[in-house]
Amino acid sequence: MYYLDHNATSPIRPECLSAVTHALVVGGNPSSIHANGRAARALVEEARERIAALAGAKADQVIFTSGATESNNLALFGAVEGSLEGDASRITRIFVSAIEHSSVLATADRLAERFPWVRVMRLAVTADGIVDLEALRVALREGKGRALVAVMAANNETGTVQPIAEVSRLVREAGALLLVDAVPAAGKIGLDFSLCDYMTLSAHKIGGPQGVGALLVREQMPLTPQLAGGGQQKGLRAGTENLSGIAGFGAAAHALEDGEGERARIVYLRDHFEAALKAAAPETIFFGNAAQRLCSTSGFAIPGLTAETALIGLDLDGVMMSSGSTCSSGKVKISHVLTAMGVDEKLAACALRASFGWSSTMDDVNAAIQSLLKLRQRAPKNYQSEVAA
Ligand code: PMP
Repeated sequence: MYYLDHNATSPIRPECLSAVTHALVVGGNPSSIHANGRAARALVEEARERIAALAGAKADQVIFTSGATESNNLALFGAVEGSLEGDASRITRIFVSAIEHSSVLATADRLAERFPWVRVMRLAVTADGIVDLEALRVALREGKGRALVAVMAANNETGTVQPIAEVSRLVREAGALLLVDAVPAAGKIGLDFSLCDYMTLSAHKIGGPQGVGALLVREQMPLTPQLAGGGQQKGLRAGTENLSGIAGFGAAAHALEDGEGERARIVYLRDHFEAALKAAAPETIFFGNAAQRLCSTSGFAIPGLTAETALIGLDLDGVMMSSGSTCSSGKVKISHVLTAMGVDEKLAACALRASFGWSSTMDDVNAAIQSLLKLRQRAPKNYQSEVAA
């Protein structure tokens, strides 16, 4: 089997698996004051330190959640509701880049439905998939009330790295708040939490277990808890902590402290994949490759070879990848990321994503290339030239 789908989920690292099983054996409720509770608490706090280190944050800024979807919901709902309390000025405008994950886009839309005074605007991106800073500058100048901006550190479909330092400067100048979804970027590029107010992370994209993530929040930022219940995590996220998941998440962050070698290996494999594919299939288009991209990601299309056909053929050859589009209820939906980048529908229907990670090997790359070239051979030729023209 050849796995090239690390952006969907990365296989669990052996050291994370050990940390998960160790934590399950330790057991204990981190809120209990007896010895078992203290042992569990120590595991949680060690993980908190490690995750904070990964993001350039402080341990007490880390809130554990059930994953980045919850983190994005908590950040957006929590900020808007929190801005209604005390003296903070109300958040009335939310600017989200058009290439954000659906857990940001859909949550922002839901906020606008729930709070009639909140206006949501999507920020355009360039053809390379970089957020349009001029559009952000203009948007921040218009309208009254506080603004909340969401721009991801890098995109999960194309890997394009976003100019967070510049975004942060504009946001700070306008007195606005910044949410950075760092899910695909974590461990691939350096993260600097000091540039933002909220940051989301997910364990399973860095070799940790699924169902655990974090929201990092800067002190004094508005954040109304979204779960009513116990007082865990300073009352900001009720519920007994997912001890084994958190321990596994911490182990993944720890593994990345020394990640230079791993990143060099991943980028070597990704670049080899792209060079070999381009040499054998020169019509291949790589999305966003004129911009700085994460080492892990290759979003591409072989014109004429639809993603639907390709994924079936790849799977038969034991190669696991994603399409650049999403498939829900049997219908293929063109990727909102590629649409925002101005990619035409016909080409976007051919979009695939190969993503690499800690366990990737040259065998994965070679198998994927071989399978893709075989499938390309069978693709209808007239369609191929029509799209390429
Ligand atoms: N944000 C981004 C950019 C993602 O790629 C994902 C996962 N596909 C999420 C958020 C949601 O993460 P989780 O699976 O932990 O809910």
